[in-house]
Amino acid sequence: MSSNFIQNIINEDMRTNKYGGRVHTRFPPEPNGYLHIGHAKSICLNFGIAAANGGKCNLRFDDTNPSKEDVEFVDSIIEDVRWLGFDWEDRMFYASDYFEELYQCAVQLIEDGKAFVCDLSAEEIREYRGTLTQPGKNSPYRDRTVEENLQLFKAMRAGEFADGSRVLRARIDMASPNLNMRDPVLYRILRAVHHRTGDKWCIYPMYDYAHPISDAIEGITHSICTLEFEDHRPLYDWVLDSLEGCKFFKSRPQQIEFARLNLTNTIMSKRYLRQLVEEGFVEGWDDPRMPTISGLRRRGYTPEAIRDFCDRIGVAKSNSMVDVAMLEHCIREDLNYKAPRVMAVLKALKVVITNYPEKKVEDLDAEINPENPEMGSRKIPFSRVVYIEQDDFRENPPKKYFRLAPGKEVRLKHAYIIKCENVIKDDNGEIVEIQCTYDPATKSGEDTSGKKVKGTLHWVSAQHALEAEVRLYDYLLADNGTDGEEEEEKKDFTQNLNPNSLEKLPKCFVEPSLKEARPGNKYQFLRQGYFCADKDSTGERLIFNRIVSLRDSWSKIEQKLK
Ligand code: ATP
Ligand code: MG
Repeated sequence: MSSNFIQNIINEDMRTNKYGGRVHTRFPPEPNGYLHIGHAKSICLNFGIAAANGGKCNLRFDDTNPSKEDVEFVDSIIEDVRWLGFDWEDRMFYASDYFEELYQCAVQLIEDGKAFVCDLSAEEIREYRGTLTQPGKNSPYRDRTVEENLQLFKAMRAGEFADGSRVLRARIDMASPNLNMRDPVLYRILRAVHHRTGDKWCIYPMYDYAHPISDAIEGITHSICTLEFEDHRPLYDWVLDSLEGCKFFKSRPQQIEFARLNLTNTIMSKRYLRQLVEEGFVEGWDDPRMPTISGLRRRGYTPEAIRDFCDRIGVAKSNSMVDVAMLEHCIREDLNYKAPRVMAVLKALKVVITNYPEKKVEDLDAEINPENPEMGSRKIPFSRVVYIEQDDFRENPPKKYFRLAPGKEVRLKHAYIIKCENVIKDDNGEIVEIQCTYDPATKSGEDTSGKKVKGTLHWVSAQHALEAEVRLYDYLLADNGTDGEEEEEKKDFTQNLNPNSLEKLPKCFVEPSLKEARPGNKYQFLRQGYFCADKDSTGERLIFNRIVSLRDSWSKIEQKLK
C-alpha cells in the first residue's frame, strides 16, 4: 500500500509506543444494504493498513438499528469481503454481541452523573438543542437523581414505556459549539425484531455511543472512518474518557477520518442504491450497472482490478470526485493480460465467399492472447458463409474508411483477404448479404501474395457460430452527478437516470469455442471490448455482459497529466 497520512500517524504511534507496537483496525459495515465500491476503499484501507503493519483487522457488523437490517445483507457482506481477498480469521463480530456490555456501561455513566433519562419528545429535543449560532437549553429532566435515572433506565429496558416516549442522554454541555456534544441521545426505545437478538431488547444504543465502546471491547487501536464523522470525534473521545478503566475495554482507540470515495456517473449511497432496487430501476443489488461489489462482480470486474483501483486513488483528508474512467482502466489492465481473445459478431451481416468451395471447412490457427503467448492457440472454423458486423460495411464509404465497401479489400482476422464484389438487397432496399471473393494466397501466417490491406475485421463462420445474447451497459446517471450525504438535490436523482443504460442484443454470434463459457469467465471480444459470461448463462443459452469497451479514456488523461 502506498504511503498516506494514516500510515504516518501509525509510524508516530509506533515510535512513541502508544499501543505497544500493536495495530488493530476493523471494517464496520451496517448490514442494511449491499457493499459498494466506496466500501471497497474502506476495506482495502483497513485490511491493508493492518497487513502493512503486522496487525489485525476485524469484520464487525454494526447492527444497532434493527429496523433496516437483515441477514441477507450480512451474508452478502461476508461474501463480498472474502471475494475481494481479505481474511478476518476468527474475528467476525457484531455490535449486537455487546448489547449487555453497552447497557452496563450506560449504567456506569448514570451512576457517575454523566447520563440521564429524558422525557422530552423528539421534536422538543430538537427545539432545545439550539442552532449553530444559538446555544441549547437544558432539558427539565437533566437534574434527576442518580437513583431515579437508574430506576427509569431499568424500566426502559424492561419494556415499561412506549416507543419514543423516553431516551437516555449523555449529560455533557448544552452550550457546546459542537451540536453533537449537546447532551446527545445514547439509547432509544424501539420495539423491533433484531435479526440476531430477536425481541430480547426494546432499547437500542445509538451509533455514536456503541461505536467507540465496540472498538474498545475488541482492542481496536485505529478506528478509521469517513470525514462526516469528524465532528463526532469529540463525542467518541468523551464516551471512552468517561468510561476510562472499564473492565470490558482492551484498548483506548483513536478515531481517524479520511475522505469517502465519490465516482462520476454513479450514485454511491446505500440509501439511493436501495431505492433503485426497490423501485425497480435495476434488476437487483447485483445488476451489472450497480456500483455494488456484487454488481461489479457480475459485470466481470476482478478483485485484483478493484484492489488496484483502491490503491491508485489513495487516501486523502478532503473529499473529491474520481473519474469512473480510472476504474475502467484498472479492469482493462488486468484483463489485457488474462483474458482470452475470441471473435463475436454483435450485429450480424451475412457474407458469402462465392469462390470458396461449398462444403469445405478449414480449422485455422488463432493465438489466444498476443499479450500472453503462454496461453497458446485455438482453432477456429472457416467456411463459405461468415458473419461480419453491419458497421464494418458501408455501401458509400467516407474517406479513410478502411473496412469493407464495394470493390474494396479487407483481411478477415486469422483467415484470408476478401474483396467485396456484390451487394444484395431485399425489396425494401435493406442490405441482406454481401458477396465476396477470397484470395487463397493470403492465408494468415502463410501469405505469399505480398498484398497489403488497411482493415482487419472480426467474423464468425455462420454454420459453426453459437447464438448468444449480449448486454451492453452505459452509466446509470446521465451526467457526472456528484455524490455526498448532504446534497439535497440527490433526492430526485431518479430524474437523472440514463434511460439507455442497458442495451440487450438478443441475436449475436460467437465463435464455437465459447460453448465452454461458464458464468464468470471473461474474454476479450476482438475490437468490441471485454465481456463476462453472466451468472444466468448456460451452454444452451449464452449471455455475455460487456464489462468495458476497449477505448481507454483514462490512459489519455494520464498521458496528459505526465
Ligand atoms: P452509505 O453512505 O453508502 O450508506 P455508510 O457509511 O452508511 O454508507 P456503512 O455500512 O456504515 O455505510 O459503512 C461501513 C464503512 O465503510 C464505514 O467505515 C464507512 O465510513 C465506509 N464507507 C462507506 N461509504 C464509503 C465511501 N464512499 N468511501 C469510503 N468509505 C466508505
Ligand atoms: Mg452508515
